[in-house]
Amino acid sequence: TSLANQIAAGEVVVRPASCVKELIENSLDAGAKHITVSLREGGIAELVVQDDGVGMDESDATLAFARHATSKVYDEHDLTRIRTLGFRGEALASIAAVSRVTLTTRTRTSEYGVLVRVEGGEMAPVEHVGATYGTRIEVTDLFYNTPARLKYLRTVQTEQAKSVEVVQKAALSRPDVAFTCQTEHHVLFQTPGNGDIRAVLASLYGVGEAKQLLEVNETTPDYKVTGLVGRPTQGRTSRSGAHLFVNGRPVRNLAIHQAVIQGYKNRLMIGKQPIYSISLEMDPTLVDVNVHPHKAEVRFSEEADVCRTVARAVAKALDDTLL
Ligand code: ADP
Ligand code: MG
Repeated sequence: TSLANQIAAGEVVVRPASCVKELIENSLDAGAKHITVSLREGGIAELVVQDDGVGMDESDATLAFARHATSKVYDEHDLTRIRTLGFRGEALASIAAVSRVTLTTRTRTSEYGVLVRVEGGEMAPVEHVGATYGTRIEVTDLFYNTPARLKYLRTVQTEQAKSVEVVQKAALSRPDVAFTCQTEHHVLFQTPGNGDIRAVLASLYGVGEAKQLLEVNETTPDYKVTGLVGRPTQGRTSRSGAHLFVNGRPVRNLAIHQAVIQGYKNRLMIGKQPIYSISLEMDPTLVDVNVHPHKAEVRFSEEADVCRTVARAVAKALDDTLL
């Protein structure tokens, strides 16, 4: 029912950024190589995610909004993946329950696109339209029918920043995919999709800044730590330049952040936060990503061990060039 969908939506959709996250994940699952995210009024008035993935045929397109409709077959032993995705076949139904959604999609074998409109969970008759290959999902007037939730949104600026952060992290976790992130006013950043993380960071922070970043590369029997870390002079006043990925997924973990700082061995200016994009590959059974589905907090069963390895990897990257 539509009420059940609205209640479930509370779990999945708390703000524009949660829609952006779910829609990008779907685009990546669809094999997209180009993803464009457009935000109007911070995504509250409208957010659009357009991809060049496989698209949906007419029946998939109408089914996509049914709760628990998922075309994805999950390996039930792959618990980490299920847990990180969190919601199986719920995202689109949940988003559509609390907004007006227009889906336009076309597969490579179809001569026309399919357009589906859903408003407050009610679907209008399907239309055939001209469309490029792939999928475009427009979400407008988020929470128009749930005023209580609308009230919890912050300013346009804050909501936009949260969505942009989601796109940044997706772009960093998939340097092989070209991302464009724009508002109604201008393009915020555009990544080339050439597989190079430094190129992604250049799109986010500028070429000059990205050039200076140092390579992190440390492999132990238990962990593989790779990525880029800023020189001490590249410190930031906020933590916004800190990006951690565990087994390919963007996550947060304060202990790891502190381990990175420790790797600087007091060379970072007091009060400054390091800039980095660090990717950690490890046994998924030693990671608990289910602490909070939205904040993507992660817990490690061998935290001290992980931190020591990260601190050493960062120290090595810095020592190699600074000594
Ligand atoms: P899930 O991703 O867990 O399967 P969703 O509600 O996010 O559930 O999506 C429902 C279904 O809609 C997906 O399984 C997929 O078949 C289809 N779908 C959603 N977004 C896209 C997309 N961008 N490209 C192709 N298919 C999509
Ligand atoms: Mg999904």
